[in-house]
Parts: sequence; C-alpha cells; structure tokens
Amino acid sequence: MNPRDIPREAFHASGAEVQAIDFGYVRSPDQDSATPAQHPVVIVGAGPVGLSLAIDLAQRGQRVVVLDNDHKLSIGSRAICFAKRTLEIWDRLGVGQRMVDKGVSWNVGKVFLKDEQLYEFNLLPESGHERPAFINLQQYYAEAYLVERALQLPGIDIRWHNKVTAVQSRADGALLSIDTPEGAYQMDAQWLVACDGARSPTRQMLGLESKGRIFQDRFLIADVKLADEANFPTERWFWFDPPFHPNQSVLLHRQPDNVWRIDFQLGWDADPEEEKKPENIIPRVKALLGADAQFELDWASVYTFACLRLDRFVHGRVVFAGDSAHGVSPFGARGANSGVQDAENLAWKLDWVLQGRASPELVNTYGPEREYAADENLCNSTRATDFITPKSEVSRLFRDAALHLAREHAFARRIVNSGRLSVPATLHTSPLNTPDTDAFVGTQVPGAVLLDAPLTKQGQPTWLLRELGRDFTLLVFGSAPAWAHDLPGVKVLQIGIDVIDHQALAAQRLDALPRTVVLVRPDQHVCARWRTPTEAAVRSALARATAAAV
Ligand SMILES: Cc1cc2nc3c(=O)[nH]c(=O)nc-3n(C[C@H](O)[C@H](O)[C@H](O)COP(=O)(O)OP(=O)(O)OC[C@H]3O[C@@H](n4cnc5c(N)ncnc54)[C@H](O)[C@@H]3O)c2cc1C
Repeated sequence: MNPRDIPREAFHASGAEVQAIDFGYVRSPDQDSATPAQHPVVIVGAGPVGLSLAIDLAQRGQRVVVLDNDHKLSIGSRAICFAKRTLEIWDRLGVGQRMVDKGVSWNVGKVFLKDEQLYEFNLLPESGHERPAFINLQQYYAEAYLVERALQLPGIDIRWHNKVTAVQSRADGALLSIDTPEGAYQMDAQWLVACDGARSPTRQMLGLESKGRIFQDRFLIADVKLADEANFPTERWFWFDPPFHPNQSVLLHRQPDNVWRIDFQLGWDADPEEEKKPENIIPRVKALLGADAQFELDWASVYTFACLRLDRFVHGRVVFAGDSAHGVSPFGARGANSGVQDAENLAWKLDWVLQGRASPELVNTYGPEREYAADENLCNSTRATDFITPKSEVSRLFRDAALHLAREHAFARRIVNSGRLSVPATLHTSPLNTPDTDAFVGTQVPGAVLLDAPLTKQGQPTWLLRELGRDFTLLVFGSAPAWAHDLPGVKVLQIGIDVIDHQALAAQRLDALPRTVVLVRPDQHVCARWRTPTEAAVRSALARATAAAV
C-alpha cells in the first residue's frame, strides 16, 4: 500500500497495532532514470531526527527525499522522555499537541537511598510555560505521529525499503547508491543529511569515526503493563541501593497505556541473555511492585552504552545529525531530544541556503553550534553515568557521602546525579550571536532558546513561542520604529500592541524595559538584544546571524 493511503486511524491505534504498521515499498520514478535524479536535500534515516528535519524543511517549502532501509516504526523500548524544548519544536512542526495528548506529562522527580526518600525536585518550578518539563511517550508513538505529519506534506517523499549502500561526497553534493527490493539505483543530492542512527552507515562509508568512552555496566529495561492503576504518582523515581535490588540503582517511569518502564542496573558481569529471561525479570519486578502486583511483561532488553561523538558534524555537503553525530547514555534523556534540536538548527539554515538567501557558510555554522551542544550533553551524561556506576572504591565512597549529605543539605543535592535531564544548550560561543552592548540580567543571553510566556492576542490567550515568525522575529517592547517593518524576512512582534504580556512574564524573563528589542532566530534562539537599537545595529545583527560578512 502507498503510505499516503494508510488510513489516519492506523496512526492513532495503540501499542502493538501502531508498531505493526507496514509502510511498504513504492517504486520511485528515479529508479527508471537513465542518469541519477537530482534532489536538493536527501535525508538518510526516518527516525525522530530525520523525520523532524524533513517536516521542518517541507513546511518551509523545500522538497525532501527521506530514505530508510526499514519499513516500520522503531521496535521495542527506546526513548520515552521527551523534553519541553522538543515539544516546542514539534509544536512548530504541527505535532506537539498530538504528542502531549498521548504522552504522560510530568515535572517532579524523587531520589531515594535504600528505602528512604532523600529529596525531590521539580524540573519546571515556575508557571507560565505552555509545555511541561517532560512527557513520557514510547518512541514508536512519537515516530508514528511524525510520519503521519510528514505524509500530510506534499514536499516529502519518504522511501521505505531504500537502503543506502554507498556515498560519494563531492564539493557540490553527494552521489548515493541505494538498494531496493527491485534492485539498485543512484541519486544525486545537493545536500545529504545523515540521520541514520548510532551505527551510521553513512559515517562508515565516508571513513569517519565517532570517538569517546564506552561504559562497563549493563542495565535491564523491563516495560511492564499493569493490570490496575499503580500506586505510584506520575513522577520520575530513582533509587540508589534499594532493598529490592541491593547495591545497584533502579529507575521507574510511567508511560501511556499503563505501561511502566523500570531500568535495573545489573553490573558489568551480568549475563544479558540470562537477565532477559522472564523467569529472571518477574521476581525483580515483583520485588519492586509487591508480590501481589498483576502485570504483563511488555518488553525486555539489556543495554550498555557509550558517550561518543564525531569530530565534525559538517563534511562538505554531508551533514550529520542525531545519533549519527553523537551518542549519549540514556540517563538524562538526551539522545532524541538533542537530535531534534540538531534538526531544528539545520532546517532553517539549509532552507536559507537553498533559497539563495544565505551562503553555504550558514550551514557550516551548524557544526560549531551543535558540536558545542553535544559536548555539553556528553559532559552531563558522562558525569551522571560515573555517579550512578562508580568505577573505583574512592568514587563509590564519594558518591555515598554525597548521597548521605543530600538528605539534609541542599549543596549536596547538586552533587547527586541521577541523570540531570535534558535542557537545550545555550550557544554561548556561536558565531551567529551579536554580543551585548547594553546591560541585561537573566538567562536570555544571545545563544539561549527564548523562554515561553503567556500572552493574549485580541483578547484570546496565546503563547510567546507560538507568535514567533517562520524566519526571524524582532520582539519589540512597545511600538516598533518605522524602519523595523522594512527588515527582510523579519516578523515584527510588538509586545503591548500586537500581543499583551498580561502577566508581565515575557518582560520579566527577557529583562525587558519599554523599547527593549530582542532579535530571535528562526530556531527560536535569541541572537541579539538592545535597550534602544538603531536600524544599523539590527541590520548588522541580522547579517551576522545569517553568516553574511559583517
Ligand atoms: C534504552 C534507551 C532509552 C532511551 N531513552 C531516551 C529518552 O528517554 N529520551 C531521548 O531523548 N532519547 C532516548 N534514547 C535515545 C534515542 O532512542 C535516540 O537518540 C534516537 O532514536 C536517535 O534518533 P535518530 O533519528 O538520530 O536515529 P534512529 O532513531 O536510530 O534512526 C535511524 C534510522 O536510520 C535508518 N537507517 C540506518 N541505516 C540506514 C541505511 N543504510 N539506509 C537507509 N536508512 C538507514 C534506520 O532504519 C532508522 O530508521 C534512548 C535510547 C535507548 C537505547
């Protein structure tokens, strides 16, 4: 069946049915072309990153081909925690609400030592944000909703059963060889984006290597479907050395469909095949949930992990995004979340270059920006992993001391690390930022993602992020100077005129006074701000933010 003919209800079914959707194979006219067909953007991989990128580009009017060697959604239990920033990006892509409706929203985490709660934390301690800190949603649902959205957009051609087998990179593009059930063909891409996952065949075909650390520990994932509502609130619970699993750690999360994800640390010596057997898993789960708990085992696997990254994410006309560019441990939920941020960073840059509005130098800035973000993620992920799985007696003593102190002392809670969860990187060192010339306080420095705030528009509630333009936005507190309306590709949003900051949270978060102006990029990062700007200063910041010579 042509995937575009799959009935809409299929994407709204649950669990096993969604995972059973078969997108099938459709012959492409490119396969009959005497010479390789030319395409502006080819994406390898229809995972969460490749799909998000394809939707963003297609919404911007670009034509995109997505190649995937498979024909189904991801199998089993992979990502479950999707962060506020990812939801905000998916809002822009038209799927945020769908994800939130199905997902389980949560903000609170609790940390236990043995059977005692040490402390709790709130990842979104303030109100005035449209989205929660996190939702939990099985990765196959997230992918299903992305595919459904992609199929609504005429510019996207997803080709399942299309396996990339060779890539030849050139100064002005890349030639791909592709295998299908009906034989091989070739295709020429002006830009090739590798979103082909942690093992990235594209990376290997170009002779590139991801480097980093491999951690010597094993974790069992047990996803269990409870017969009744469980006795746990919708929170993230993390235990160090609990009585039901001594000397190891355990993580508990709620997912939709009354499925609970339990990660049991096993240690390096554990035998993965033995540990995956239901007769070994069920007693572990009963020890946690209680001997009488009624549940079915939905999924089980044993994983190890590595923190790895490619040296450079841009290699001429071949760009790497998501797991193909960087791999982090699952503690902290950074894999898919940071990959979707890669996609959003790249989409507008590719669009501007393909439209001829910017030089390829703009795409090159994706490299340093997202490599910086990957380093921050890798650093946090490595710290969390070292804390959870101490590798020496001294580290374990330090860890246990921090845990005991955390009961009473807030400073020690900052040391305890059960996987600090994904937040978007502030791109402090980005070449696209214009340094401040005026004094501001707060977090919304050039390079930061704009924080959301509740607004009203013509008396109706709305949100700051929803009111931003497709390209750049000039946020003006008060009335905009006349020249602002002549800036090309810039939406002018006058706070107090076009929209009302009725709780004054936008002004507070941006440290804005009357006449303050903030320039926001298409990916919603702040790139410049002024107390009272001149036209020349704003035009120069715009040029810098699009990698034009300043
Ligand atoms: C146990 C576990 C828990 C996790 N929990 C979280 C979490 O809570 N939150 C989070 O953000 N992340 C989490 N992650 C990480 C997350 O799953 C990954 O970061 C995410 O799937 C990466 O997306 P991607 O699109 O880059 O790659 P993938 O999802 O791996 O997609 C790659 C795609 O490329 C295709 N492909 C591969 N080779 C070829 C080829 N030769 N030709 C064509 N197509 C090809 C594949 O079929 C696949 O569809 C977790 C991972 C694991 C293992």
